[in-house]
Amino acid sequence: MSHQLAIEHDVVGVGFGPSNLALAIALDECASRSRLKCAPLFVERQPHFTWHGGMLLPGSDMQISFLKDLVSLRDPTSPFTFVNYLHKRGRLLDFVNCRTFYPSRIEFNDYLRWVAEQFKSRVAYGETIVAVEPVIAGQTVTSLRVHSRTLAGGETVRLARNLVVAVGGQPYVPPVFAKMVGDARLFHTSRYLDAVERAGLEGRAARVAVIGGGQSATEVTVDLHGRFAQARIDLIFRGHALKPSDSSPFVNEIFNPDYTDFIYPQPPERRDAIVRNFRNTNYAVVDSDLLDQLYRLLYQQRVGGETRVALHPRSEITE
Ligand SMILES: Cc1cc2nc3c(=O)[nH]c(=O)nc-3n(C[C@H](O)[C@H](O)[C@H](O)COP(=O)(O)OP(=O)(O)OC[C@H]3O[C@@H](n4cnc5c(N)ncnc54)[C@H](O)[C@@H]3O)c2cc1C
Repeated sequence: MSHQLAIEHDVVGVGFGPSNLALAIALDECASRSRLKCAPLFVERQPHFTWHGGMLLPGSDMQISFLKDLVSLRDPTSPFTFVNYLHKRGRLLDFVNCRTFYPSRIEFNDYLRWVAEQFKSRVAYGETIVAVEPVIAGQTVTSLRVHSRTLAGGETVRLARNLVVAVGGQPYVPPVFAKMVGDARLFHTSRYLDAVERAGLEGRAARVAVIGGGQSATEVTVDLHGRFAQARIDLIFRGHALKPSDSSPFVNEIFNPDYTDFIYPQPPERRDAIVRNFRNTNYAVVDSDLLDQLYRLLYQQRVGGETRVALHPRSEITE
């Protein structure tokens, strides 16, 4: 076990995804404007920066405008904007010629990695935070003791005055699949690219079931169809139909900062009701471009008289 208790960090960030990357930029700005000297350290369990690496599918695009990058809306003059990334990469004009607000996820991952690289001295990669304990003097918590572990089992303990937890979501595999946990044939989309390459589907008339009726399930269905020419893919979902996500302008205002300020202080049941009301912006819905793509694919199958992809609405896995 290695201890680093002597150094007390102003801020320890748990995870180094887009949330804490944006925080790293903001703290850096504060420090350079001398408003607040702050030395953050971010601890990230992945060995290097990747943004949802298991789903960096060729052909997948961002679902939000590139102007909602890590910093533009707060400070469009920042050197960490997506536009400056394009400029530094020598692609600004070409991107403009693409006439889109929605870069590919592969490009956006490269942008995020470009920013992450500039903060690498403040990140401990390959460490998972496993425990946090209060350090108490009298009645007061004076700091936090933060324990992390590497894949090889080494443990580090650090002291933090502030802790920012930005660990993202956790993959959810419903209990009905419990018996198959550990079977290489069952995998969550968060591991899709790695797992599908190892699944041995190449050149086989394999059958693959994709469970779910949202964006990731639909992306994976289309990807499997393109990736394995002989595979048969069944998309199984509870709803009556695959439904489009609502990104229309008035609805999209829910993501504005003042809307967040409005929702945050509401009592829990009111917050839940608001989130439910806006569910179709994000949950169990699919980008309409992708829906069109899948529909055309199914139609072309009918023209050719083959059934490689089949949809199973109103269906639930029970056993
Ligand atoms: C496939 C996919 C596509 C998406 N596309 C979009 C999109 O186009 N637009 C959009 O707005 N949102 C999109 N999202 C939503 C996504 O949640 C956000 O884009 C963004 O990744 C959230 O950033 P985050 O930093 O909060 O969480 P994450 O990106 O999940 O990052 C959390 C980080 O914390 C690390 N971590 C977790 N636990 C620990 C621990 N105990 N110790 C150390 N490190 C830890 C993880 O390794 C990870 O790197 C997408 C999500 C997915 C899964």
